[in-house]
Amino acid sequence: MKEYPYWWDTISDSPAARPQSSAEPSNSLPTSRVDVAVIGGGYTGLSAARQLARAGASVVLLEREWIGWGASSRNGGQVLTGLKLEPAARVHRCGEIRASALFDAASASIERLEGLIAEESIQCG
Ligand SMILES: Cc1cc2nc3c(=O)[nH]c(=O)nc-3n(C[C@H](O)[C@H](O)[C@H](O)COP(=O)(O)OP(=O)(O)OC[C@H]3O[C@@H](n4cnc5c(N)ncnc54)[C@H](O)[C@@H]3O)c2cc1C
Repeated sequence: MKEYPYWWDTISDSPAARPQSSAEPSNSLPTSRVDVAVIGGGYTGLSAARQLARAGASVVLLEREWIGWGASSRNGGQVLTGLKLEPAARVHRCGEIRASALFDAASASIERLEGLIAEESIQCG
């Protein structure tokens, strides 16, 4: 049984291949200046760094552990519709307009994810 994400086996310098005792960060800090430093290499940080780099910014991504170490490699991998919060609770908390906008954003994210998978030719089944 593997207690780490399978995709770690597909990357060079995989943390899975390293003995725990000698686990060291794989990259040193850059010595030059960058436009943006993104902290955290989960979905949020990686997506932000990718977007910024595509817009022409120089970006460094700083991850304390390994890329995908946090929730992003421990989830169910399900592309969900809607949001965790029930509609009534959402309206109560944010008002009808904002609640509706949040739902629309969540729905749009599915198409966005499919676009990202296609753009990057990600073999994720
Ligand atoms: C058990 C579980 C099941 C889930 N199931 C689903 C699902 O089926 N579908 C779904 O859509 N969502 C699911 N989620 C939610 C989803 O996984 C998260 O919303 C998403 O991964 C959050 O991504 P993130 O990049 O914001 O955070 P994370 O992936 O947690 O990334 C944060 C990163 O920041 C790093 N970090 C933190 N502090 C520092 C620091 N000071 N310096 C440098 N690095 C730092 C951490 O090491 C980590 O790698 C699930 C979550 C869990 C926990």
